[in-house]
Amino acid sequence: MTILEQMLLNTDSAVILGHVRPDGDCLGSALGLYNYIRSFRPDIRTAVYLEEASPKFAYLKGFEEIRHRTDDESYRLCICVDSSDRERLGEFAVYLDRAQASLCLDHHVTNTGYGECSVVEAGASSTCEVLFGQMDEKYIDKSVAECLYTGIVHDTGVFKFSCTSPKTMEIAGRLMGKGVDFGNIIDDSFYRKTYIQNQILGRALLESITFLDGRCIFSAIRQNEMKFYGVDGKDMDGIIDQLRLTEGVEVAIFMYQTGASEYKVSLRSQNIVDVSRVASFFGGGGHVRAAGCTMSGSIHDVINNLSLHIEKQLNEREQEG
Ligand code: AMP
Ligand code: MN
Ligand code: MN
Repeated sequence: MTILEQMLLNTDSAVILGHVRPDGDCLGSALGLYNYIRSFRPDIRTAVYLEEASPKFAYLKGFEEIRHRTDDESYRLCICVDSSDRERLGEFAVYLDRAQASLCLDHHVTNTGYGECSVVEAGASSTCEVLFGQMDEKYIDKSVAECLYTGIVHDTGVFKFSCTSPKTMEIAGRLMGKGVDFGNIIDDSFYRKTYIQNQILGRALLESITFLDGRCIFSAIRQNEMKFYGVDGKDMDGIIDQLRLTEGVEVAIFMYQTGASEYKVSLRSQNIVDVSRVASFFGGGGHVRAAGCTMSGSIHDVINNLSLHIEKQLNEREQEG
C-alpha cells in the first residue's frame, strides 16, 4: 500500500492545498487528488483551497468547488501538493497547522521537508507524476486522468523539457488510455491565448533585452502596463517559454511587477546554469532548469543582482571546461 493510500485509510477528513498563483501542475494534482478521493474513499470529507486560477482550467472536474478563502473548518489530514515550502501555501497554511497529520507530495529539489510525511521525487516531471505513483489505477477515472494529464503537460512544456522521462511518457500513455481528450487539453490549456494575452506576449518580446554577450535575455512588465492591457499574472503564461527559445540564450528571465518595488521573477536555463540555486539565494526555489522568486528593488536592481549569480555559474563552467 502506498503512503497516500495508508493515510487516506486513517482519516475521515482531508484538505488539499497547493501553492500561491496555482499553475497547471498545482491545479492538476490538487483536483486529481480531490476526484480520486471521491472515487476511492467517498466517505472522506474533502475540500481543496487554492488562490483563484486562470479560467482556462475550468474544464477540470471540481474547479468550481475550489475554495478561495480561509474559513473556520478544520480537517484531520492535510495534503500539500506541488509546494516546495510552507510559505508557498500562502494564507491556507492555517489548515496545515490545524491538521493532525500531513502529507507533502512534490517534485521540487528545493523542497524543505515541511510536511510530517513527504513523498518528494526531484526526478519526476511533475507532482502529477508523483501522485500517479501513489494511486491505485483502478480508481483513476477519466476526470482524475484529465487532471493528471494536464499537470504533466504543463510542467513538461508539452513533453519536451528535460524533466520528461520515459516514465513520464508511460504514465501519459496510461492516462490517454482512460479516454482523455489530449489534443484539446493541450491546445486549450497550454497554447490558446486570448487576444490580450497575445498582445502582452508581443510587448514582452518586443522590449526584451539581451546581456552577458547574448547568453541571457530578460523582459519586464510594469504594473502600469498590466493596467493598460488589463492583464494580471495569470495572463503571462508562456512569455518565459518564448524568451527561453531565443537562439544563443542560456538563461531567460521574465518578471512582472507585483508591488511598488517588487517583482515576481521567472528563470529558465538551457543546459548550464542551475537556476534553482539562483532563485533559492533570493528566497525562491524550483528546479534546475525552471525556477522562480520574488525580488525587491527596481528592474535594474533585480537584473544586476541576478546577473552576478548567473555570470558566476557561467564562469565556473567555462573554467571547468
Ligand atoms: P514559474 O517561473 O513561476 O513558472 O516557476 C518555475 C518553477 O519554480 C515552478 O516549479 C515553481 O513552483 C517554482 N517557483 C516559482 N516561484 C517560486 C518561489 N517564490 N519559491 C519557490 N519556488 C518557486
Ligand atoms: Mn507548480
Ligand atoms: Mn510542479
